Amino acid sequence: MLYRCKNCGSNVVYDPKSKKMKCPHCEGLDTEDAIAGESLENCPNCGAPVKPTEYQSAHRCAHCGVYLIVDERIAGDYKPHLIIPFKLDKNDAAQRLRTSFNHRLFMPDSFLSEATLEKMEGMYVPFFLFDIHSHYLWTGRGTRIRKWVSGDTEYTETKIFRVERDMVADFEHVPADASVVMDDDIMDLMEPYDYKLLEDFQQKYMSGFYGEMYSQTAVELTDRAKAKIRPGVEQMMQSSLGSYTTLTPDQRNMELEEQQHEYALLPVWVYTYNYHGKTYNYFVNGQSGKVIGKSPFAMSKVVGYCATWFGFIMLAGQLIRMIMEVL
Ligand SMILES: [Zn+2]
Ligand SMILES: [Zn+2]
Repeated sequence: MLYRCKNCGSNVVYDPKSKKMKCPHCEGLDTEDAIAGESLENCPNCGAPVKPTEYQSAHRCAHCGVYLIVDERIAGDYKPHLIIPFKLDKNDAAQRLRTSFNHRLFMPDSFLSEATLEKMEGMYVPFFLFDIHSHYLWTGRGTRIRKWVSGDTEYTETKIFRVERDMVADFEHVPADASVVMDDDIMDLMEPYDYKLLEDFQQKYMSGFYGEMYSQTAVELTDRAKAKIRPGVEQMMQSSLGSYTTLTPDQRNMELEEQQHEYALLPVWVYTYNYHGKTYNYFVNGQSGKVIGKSPFAMSKVVGYCATWFGFIMLAGQLIRMIMEVL
């Protein structure tokens, strides 16, 4: 389907600036009519043959340029629960790329030219967001050693403690991208998103953008989500253990249990640049503006790496029970 302007017949798209549906031709707001497509194979606007790729849920007619939404790929089992609508429009995303790259030497003019940046497209990437409950039981022995000298005698005092920690923490919205098309490492670097701005899914947010349906299931991804929080849970335990001269565990049992998951679409601007016969992809988080991409010029490091597990973790509740007994 597509959204067509009641006033002028142009393609109405979601406008991140006004947060409304906007006709780029007559600038009308919320003037859209939903036009159903009769088949996947033909553009409902111009009738030209169109061919979405295997997982595309939204794409563009190569002939007339309208943005099309593939209804059956956002319905039934594939209906997203949640979405973060684009906050940055194309100009904002282009500006983020310029800011990230225009201090680089040896940059071809075309890289940041209006004409090439115009080809940038927004894309909704499928994610599963997991709520995970963690329970960590740690028991063992700690020692604290104090030394001092009095007269000719050196004294050593060793205190031995029984150390027990029973820690419970809940993690909300731990993301794992559900796309075989997008690179997992790149998507991990796109984080964090601000999940407070998640909204109930509405298909009009997809107009004007590309989109993908999930191509990996939540069952396949739950272990990846758990692996993301494991170091964080371990770190919380280590900091709760406090300082001992030695710590010897006799039991360390971390359990991670999925409570629920939700299917969400998250916004990414994608910029493809061809240089000396090679293709380079750049990504701009459509919410935060974070830029990820390898520069083909001079330096080849990944720009913008600062993702940590802290970024996405929101502690819903944390309970640490400590028992310390001097033996
Ligand atoms: Zn119009
Ligand atoms: Zn068309």
